[in-house]
Amino acid sequence: MKSQRLIDALEWGSNCLEEEGIENPRRGAEFLLLYLLGWTQTHLYLNAEAWLRQDDLSAFQDLIRRRAQHFPLQYLTGRTEFRGGEFLVNQETMIPRPETEILVDGALKKLRSINREPLTVIDVGTGCGNIAITLAKSLPCRVYATDISAGALRAAAKNAQASGVDIIFLRGDLFGPIEELGLEGKVDLVISNPPYIATGDFSALSPEVSQFEPRLALDGGKDGLKFYPPIIKGAARYLKASGYLALEMGAGQAEKVKKLILENGHFQYPEIIKDYSGIDRVIIAEK
Ligand code: GLN
Repeated sequence: MKSQRLIDALEWGSNCLEEEGIENPRRGAEFLLLYLLGWTQTHLYLNAEAWLRQDDLSAFQDLIRRRAQHFPLQYLTGRTEFRGGEFLVNQETMIPRPETEILVDGALKKLRSINREPLTVIDVGTGCGNIAITLAKSLPCRVYATDISAGALRAAAKNAQASGVDIIFLRGDLFGPIEELGLEGKVDLVISNPPYIATGDFSALSPEVSQFEPRLALDGGKDGLKFYPPIIKGAARYLKASGYLALEMGAGQAEKVKKLILENGHFQYPEIIKDYSGIDRVIIAEK
């Protein structure tokens, strides 16, 4: 394609995305162009008639083509925002969702009510480290964060470094890598946003999620609840008396998760918190 003005390239990109049924095509095209040029929106509006350099134009076309195949924006740019902080993401990490900010806020509120320092936290299935890092940035605590995916932990380690916090990242399944550390009864908070999508529900998800996000980070087995019993059991083992268990969950799962927590026999005062759409999203219980 020959040289184009920014405004025409944007129009082309936006149309390509729209034809493929991508949501918010105009915003997506603009976002990718700004990312590529390292510009602000104001700069773009003031220079809309400027010509795009040939190499930038081909790079933009590549980005648009990949986005048109439903490849998530966050993986194209390699980053996303979570609770005001920037996080690197790659295809081995799930893209943090705004709902998870509610989990973090709920947990922070509980931690702030504890008058001991420093606090000890375990984040199970840390992904790109968004939960662990946000907690460590917000208050003095020692955070152990596990994940089964080495690729996710690589991103998480970079994110912790960029945020200037020390997290103890450990590779393995759930509490597996914590076992030898002697933390039984010493932890103030166990927090997790485990995979909770029922296997049968994947076909109903957007291609962005079902084709490109790591299945390992999303698939919660037949009923989506597979990871709750082992996490609850581990939490009962590692938490101090009056420590907190904070879990994210999917639509329609709250009552079942609450039941699992109470049936464990070590927890009381389960509190359910709704997300921005009014869905019961987070449960916090006290040991
Ligand atoms: N802890 C990360 C998040 O909340 C990853 C969760 C996961 O991979 N299930 O985004």
